[in-house]
Amino acid sequence: MELNTSIKYLKGVGEKRAAMLAKLGIFTLWDLLTFYPRTYEDWSKITSIKDAPMNETVCIKAIVGMPCREHRIRKGMTLYKTEVTDGEMLLDITFFNNPYSAKKLEQGKEYLFFGKITGKGYFRSMNSPDFVETDGMGGIRPIYPQTAGMNSRAIEKLIKTAFEYTAKPADPIPESIRNGYCLMGLYDALRNIHFPESEDMLSEARRRLIFEELFLLELGLLRMKTKARQSTALSMEKDYTGEFFALLPFELTGAQKRAIAEAAADMLQGVPMNRLVQGDVGSGKTAVCAALIYNCIRNGYQSALMAPTEVLAMQHYKTLAKFFESTDITIGLLTGSTPAAEKKKIKAALKDGKIDLVIGTHALIQKNVEFSNLALAVTDEQHRFGVNQRNSLHSKGKNPHTLVMSATPIPRTLALIIYGDLDLSILDEMPKGRQKTETYLVTPDLRERAYAYIKKHLCQGRQGYIVCSLVEEGETSELTAANELFKELSDGFFKGFRLGLLHGKMKAAEKKAVMDSFASGETQLLVATTVIEVGIDVPNAVIMVIENAERFGLSQLHQLRGRIGRGSEKSTCILISEADETERLNVLASTTDGFKIADEDLKLRGPGDFFGSRQHGLPEMKIANMMTDGEVIKETREAAEKLLKNNPALAGEDFEMLRKAVNRLFSGGSMN
Ligand code: ADP
Ligand code: MG
Repeated sequence: MELNTSIKYLKGVGEKRAAMLAKLGIFTLWDLLTFYPRTYEDWSKITSIKDAPMNETVCIKAIVGMPCREHRIRKGMTLYKTEVTDGEMLLDITFFNNPYSAKKLEQGKEYLFFGKITGKGYFRSMNSPDFVETDGMGGIRPIYPQTAGMNSRAIEKLIKTAFEYTAKPADPIPESIRNGYCLMGLYDALRNIHFPESEDMLSEARRRLIFEELFLLELGLLRMKTKARQSTALSMEKDYTGEFFALLPFELTGAQKRAIAEAAADMLQGVPMNRLVQGDVGSGKTAVCAALIYNCIRNGYQSALMAPTEVLAMQHYKTLAKFFESTDITIGLLTGSTPAAEKKKIKAALKDGKIDLVIGTHALIQKNVEFSNLALAVTDEQHRFGVNQRNSLHSKGKNPHTLVMSATPIPRTLALIIYGDLDLSILDEMPKGRQKTETYLVTPDLRERAYAYIKKHLCQGRQGYIVCSLVEEGETSELTAANELFKELSDGFFKGFRLGLLHGKMKAAEKKAVMDSFASGETQLLVATTVIEVGIDVPNAVIMVIENAERFGLSQLHQLRGRIGRGSEKSTCILISEADETERLNVLASTTDGFKIADEDLKLRGPGDFFGSRQHGLPEMKIANMMTDGEVIKETREAAEKLLKNNPALAGEDFEMLRKAVNRLFSGGSMN
C-alpha cells in the first residue's frame, strides 16, 4: 500500500477505528508510522522475583503454575488469581474484573510479566500485570498516547501491521548528508523508533528523526532569511545614530550601543535589516529603537513602531516625543480607539509623507494604512504578535528594514530556531545604578502588612502598583476583580491616598488619563490588571504587590515585576499566595535573571505551553524538542547552512524529496 493511503484501508482498522485514530491526528498510513511512542517499557531486563525491588515496575519471566481461579468478593468485584514461578520463588498474580486477561494465561506456559510487586517475605504478588508469551514480544516496547477506545497495545499492533503492508518509504535526506552526520536511514529509524532492537538502536533512531525534523525546519528558515535578503532600495546613506545620543538624558549602556551599531550597520547595506533585539525587562530597548528610528528619519524615510497594547503605544509615543523634542520630527499615534476624524488625518499625512514616525497597535497593519516611504518597521514585545503580523507591518513598505524587540528571554539556540530568519542582538547589561528588586513571598494573612509597607513608601513620595489577577477567565470578571479591589482599598486601607484603576476594558482615553496621572506622580498607587505587564515605565514606582501570584506563570510575574526597579531606588515586590505554591514562586524570589526564570518556567510548564505555535508561528514538531535538543539544533543549522551555500535552490534529483518536504512543512503553517 502507498504511504498516503487512508488509514481505514489498513487491516484491522475500518471506519470506526479510523474515526478514533483521526482524533490522534492519524489519517494516513504515513501518519500512523510517524505517530511516535510517548515512552517505552523496558521488557528486556528480567529480574528474579526474589531480587525484584518492591513497588517499582519490573519484568519477571515465570511459568504459570495453576489455572486461573475466580473469587467473587462482592457485587461488581471479581478477582482472578493465579500463581507463577521463576523456579526460585512463587508470585501471586491478580486481575480485577478482567476475565479476558486472566483467561489468556495457560498453565505450564512461560510468560513475561510486567508490573509492580508488593508483599512481604514469601508472599509476593503482582496486580494486573501486562504480559506476553516469552517467545512473543519482549525487549523495549513502545507506549503510545491513547484515545478513548484505542489503547497503546492496539496502536502498537496496527503499526506492526502497517509495516507489513506498506512500501519502504524513500529517504528525504540524501545519502551524502546521512553519511556526513552518521544518520540511520529513514526506514530503519522508523522501525527502531517503534520496535527498538536495542537501546542503542533506539537512540540512533531518535537522533535521526529529530535531525530530520530540525534540518527541514532550519532549511526552511534559512531560505526565508535569504529571501528577505533580496536587495532593497531603502538603504541608508549615512549613520546618524551618534547625533541621537546627544538627545538622550542618559548615557547608553555598552550593550545598547552595540545593538544600535549592529542595526545601523545593517541599514547601510543594500539588503533589508532583519534583526531581533532581545533584552530583559528594563534593559532599555526603547532607546535602542529610538536611535534607529532617528537614523531612518534623518536619512529621509518614514518609520513605524508597533506595540501590542494601547497603553504601551501611548507610552512609547510620549517617550519618543520627549527624545525628539528638540527636533522637527513629526509623530502620529494610531490605535484602535483613535477617533475616526483623527485617524483619517493621520492616515492621509502618512501617505503624503508628512508624518515621519507613526506609533500604534495592530491598527497599523490594517489594509488602508499606507506610507509614503516606510523604511523601518519596529515591532515591540514581538512575542505578543504572530510571525504573520510582524510580516504585515513589513509589507507596508517596499522591502523595509525590520527590527523586532522582545523581553521574553529564551536560550540562544532556541532564539535561533524561533527567530531563525532574524539576526540577533542581545542587551545583556542593565543601565547603571539599578538596584536589584527584592522579592518576597507572603501568605494572604500578611496582606495588611504588605499594604502598610506600600503606605510607608507612598508617604515618602514614591509610587506603587497592586496587581490583581483574573478570578476566572472572561471579561466581566477581570473588570469586577479590579473594580472591587479598587473600591475596597480606596474606601478602606488607603483612604486619603490618591489611587488609580487600570484594566483592559477601559476606553483608550480613560486609560490614557490614568496612565498620565500615574506617570506625572499625581496618582500614587495604581490598582491594575495584567495590562501593565508589558512595557509600562514609571521609574518612581518602587513597590508592587501581586495578589494571587500563583495564578501567573513565572515569566509573566517576572515581566510584571519589571515595572519596578526602573530607577536608582531600591524596589520591592511582594507576592501574595497560599503556602502550597511557595516552591515555584521562590524561584522568583531567588533570582532576577530572566533567562533562569524562563528555564524554570519551561521545566515546570513544558515547552508546549511556553512556545505555543501561536506565539512563534513555526510548524509543530513531532519528535524534536526545542528545549532539550540543543545539540542537534546546532548540527542541523550547520548542515543546512552548508547545503544551501552550495545549492541554494536545493536543485537536482538527489534533493527533490528534501525540497518538497521543506515546502510541505512551511505550506500548512501560519508562516509565510
Ligand atoms: P525595556 O527594555 O523593558 O523596554 P525601557 O526601554 O522601557 O526598557 O527602559 C527602562 C527604563 O530605563 C526607562 O525609564 C529608560 O528611560 C531607562 N533607561 C534606558 N536606558 C538607560 C540607560 N542607558 N541609562 C539609564 N536609564 C536608562
Ligand atoms: Mg519595553
